[in-house]
Amino acid sequence: MPHTFSRRMDGLRSSAIRNLLALTARPDVISLAGGLPDPDFIPRERIRKEAERALTDPASVQYGETTGLRRLRDVLAAREGARIGRLLNAGEVVVTHGSQQALSLLAQVLLDPGDVVVVEEPAYTGALQVFRAAQAAVQSVPLDRGGMNTAALQELLESGVRPTVVHTVSNFHNPRGVVLAADRRKHLAALADRYGFWVIEDDPYGELFFDAPAPRPVAAFSDRVIRLSSASKILAPALRVGWLHGDRRVCEAVELLKQGADLCGSSLTHQITAAMLSDEAWLALHLDMLRTRYGARSRALTAGISSAFGDSAALSDVQGGMFCWVEFTDDTIDTAALLRTAVEHGVAFVPGSAFGMGAHLGAALRLCYATCPEDVLAVACERLGDAYLAHAQS
Ligand code: PMP
Repeated sequence: MPHTFSRRMDGLRSSAIRNLLALTARPDVISLAGGLPDPDFIPRERIRKEAERALTDPASVQYGETTGLRRLRDVLAAREGARIGRLLNAGEVVVTHGSQQALSLLAQVLLDPGDVVVVEEPAYTGALQVFRAAQAAVQSVPLDRGGMNTAALQELLESGVRPTVVHTVSNFHNPRGVVLAADRRKHLAALADRYGFWVIEDDPYGELFFDAPAPRPVAAFSDRVIRLSSASKILAPALRVGWLHGDRRVCEAVELLKQGADLCGSSLTHQITAAMLSDEAWLALHLDMLRTRYGARSRALTAGISSAFGDSAALSDVQGGMFCWVEFTDDTIDTAALLRTAVEHGVAFVPGSAFGMGAHLGAALRLCYATCPEDVLAVACERLGDAYLAHAQS
């Protein structure tokens, strides 16, 4: 049926992998596929108390400012300003409906159809979706143990490619788990200044470090960086509080579009989030708990995977966040096919091909350790090892 939907919808369809993952919702399957925080680590009691307190204020149930509750933007400006080493004010921060909305609004603000966007390979699938919907010409640069290979980006630029936007997940990458090296952050910022593209530094995982914090954000080194972060992984996804900060003109353009998108965010969850983020003593304890618990889980998973696959796979060196990336040394392994066998063995993951077009992604997979306790992760790893053997013999 021609002309039923806009041209924008042509390139967007539910992927085969998404359909396959629908099979993994069976109760007997341990899913390491989703990227969900553990609900037991979400501070529901504190959220309940803050919600009760907020509800005594009529403003909490009223429309609010499009850019977000002023008190929340003040807290965020102080926190983000400390990270980039510069005084930020509330006018440089926009609160969005999760950082996913920030990505989506930025794509509309910055991109015309056909504009080049450079993503990492592998890339965050939610970013790929947004850039495809914006009808951008998506190109990729490889990612390695030090994050985005900025030398490869420089080569691309020197070959004449002129991106409008470069997207990077700088800390504890989704799906690769890695951290962008300090020198590459400066290099990326310098390239943005020299070639005049925008960097979207997408950082929902930076607070979830296990031993040491990640290096200073890319945004510390150039005004052409728009930084995104979120309350989803540290407080609760259901608050739907994300934010962006950066160039004031970009913030104003995002505000204009957001008026048309949703008028404003939820005054109630903005109040709750502001209260929790400004209670520094509580937040420090809460973040310590998350770092310790997720750190223990990451170690349980990497130990289990090492013993399940031995030398046949290489694992990312996980130092924070929620994900571990596994690459099989035998690059003829097709992890999308392996997923079918794995589900029969009661375990699920996301095949690498979900995260980009590169052929080498087909022999890789992403595991999320955040949602399962250590003993369940150990069982999941055994099942993965059995599935791998069964798949190799079939
Ligand atoms: N960016 C990255 C890299 C993510 O992994 C996610 C969530 N999976 C998001 C953005 C969006 O998260 P939210 O909208 O909940 O803030």
